[in-house]
Amino acid sequence: MVTVRLRFFPWGETVAPGFLVLRGGGPRLLRQPVLVGLLEHPREGRWLIDTGLHPCLAHLGFPLNLFVRLGRLALPAGPPPVQDLAGVFLSHFHLDHGAGLAGLQPKVLITSREGYESSRLGGELHPGWSQSLWPAGLFERTRWLENFSRSSHGPVTGFDLFDDGSVLAVSLPGHSHGHYGLLCQTERGRVFFIADACGVSQVLTRGVKQRAPSWIATDRRAEQRTQAWLRNLIHWCWLVPSHCPRAYLAVR
Ligand SMILES: [Zn+2]
Repeated sequence: MVTVRLRFFPWGETVAPGFLVLRGGGPRLLRQPVLVGLLEHPREGRWLIDTGLHPCLAHLGFPLNLFVRLGRLALPAGPPPVQDLAGVFLSHFHLDHGAGLAGLQPKVLITSREGYESSRLGGELHPGWSQSLWPAGLFERTRWLENFSRSSHGPVTGFDLFDDGSVLAVSLPGHSHGHYGLLCQTERGRVFFIADACGVSQVLTRGVKQRAPSWIATDRRAEQRTQAWLRNLIHWCWLVPSHCPRAYLAVR
């Protein structure tokens, strides 16, 4: 079986949306990383998983600058310093995942057509996204997930990014339109990057409730179904949410 190398590192940070309501405890704020992943495939090269935050977010107009301030986003100085990228995978169209697209100017982008089409609706009022983050000419360099062939690993079915089963893009409905995670067969076992399907891992492992990211979910019932499905996978693979302060430490 083909395996990939994969590590995650924070590219920016957020504070306020990490609002937790612990069972039997009071609410508290949580400092959360904005993670990006670096995936190295033996034949297909180096791919960045999401882009993290970017200084351009400081110059967005209302209402997105409100989102930046409320989220107390700590912006890095530029895009992740990753050389020789074959391309970028974008899990979904929220600014803390795709703000670096213009800075990176990826040769190839892989993302969901459904997510893209949704991001074009509502102009600047589309929650969590600005069309100014989508660089000119990127459409022509984008490969849409929905056009890839499908493959399965155990209980998980997804779009087979490299036609060898090493990386499957898996639909995780609820958080946003066209929201996808990546199930990766790595040298260290199965790692499932689940983007914003939940905030911290304890939502899945301990039933902790968390206001974010649920407060901006496009379909909360679908989000709960997705989380219930992911709970079945806890002992089958390593789950990495985009903003969990702990989960990525095992794969960095
Ligand atoms: Zn999101």
